[in-house]
Amino acid sequence: EATNMLRAAVLDRVRTRTDQAERVRSELAASRKELDAFVYVASHDLKEPVRGIHGYAHYLIEQAGAKLDTEERRRLDGLVRLTDRMEGLIESLLHFSRVGQLDLTLAAADLSGVAAEALDVVAPRIAEAGAEVVIGPLPTLRCDRRWVREVLVNLITNGLKYNDQPHKRVEIGYTVPTAEGDPPVLFVRDNGIGIPERHREAVFQMFKRLHGRTDYGGGTGAGLAIVRKIVDRHGGRIWAESVPGAGSTFYFTLATEKCPK
Ligand code: ADP
Repeated sequence: EATNMLRAAVLDRVRTRTDQAERVRSELAASRKELDAFVYVASHDLKEPVRGIHGYAHYLIEQAGAKLDTEERRRLDGLVRLTDRMEGLIESLLHFSRVGQLDLTLAAADLSGVAAEALDVVAPRIAEAGAEVVIGPLPTLRCDRRWVREVLVNLITNGLKYNDQPHKRVEIGYTVPTAEGDPPVLFVRDNGIGIPERHREAVFQMFKRLHGRTDYGGGTGAGLAIVRKIVDRHGGRIWAESVPGAGSTFYFTLATEKCPK
């Protein structure tokens, strides 16, 4: 009798905790959605005026070109460059919020095919760098293939970009799960400059860059934030490991069965 009462009490406790956790999770999801909606509206509204300023600066250069002295011309060129950059940042924010808002189209996808598509996108950069990109065997997983392709494009591009080696190499593969029910862990490995331990989480923050604005071909620092969001939406996890000077490996999972909204 006493054991039964104890069991009932414990079960009740567990149920309450589970309910609480469920509530917190759905509140969190709701506020994430709200944040995405806010970012979307804010960046969308910023886009028009910035485009306008860009247009005016261009117009001035075209129309008054001959009358401008060197200094005036230099400043107007600077204005065009800055608004260019702002438009890039705004586009990244818009895209970031879209990843949070749009529904995923989930279907079984052969990731070898998805990786081959990613390679097509990156082909010009691979050729230019004289790099080698190797795709190992990959599993078939339920995911939104367009977005997973974007994850791979970003990771491959970074592996080539943050790389000083004369022979740049990127390898895409996965490790077979050791425990049943565990998702396979996909990886993109490069032989590039590496990421110091203290920055390994920070690189996933929006607009975070470890180098000067124009070093390593520039960039907005949005890529990995978007990549993490895509992985999050698939119920997966992404992290980086690295030996500075020798290369980095980005690991990620995609939930195998239940993919949360
Ligand atoms: P971006 O490439 O536009 O700067 P990302 O969000 O893709 O933005 O990356 C953020 C920063 O993380 C980069 O600026 C770079 O400093 C660092 N980083 C990303 N990928 C790698 C890599 N494979 N090797 C070394 N550093 C990297």
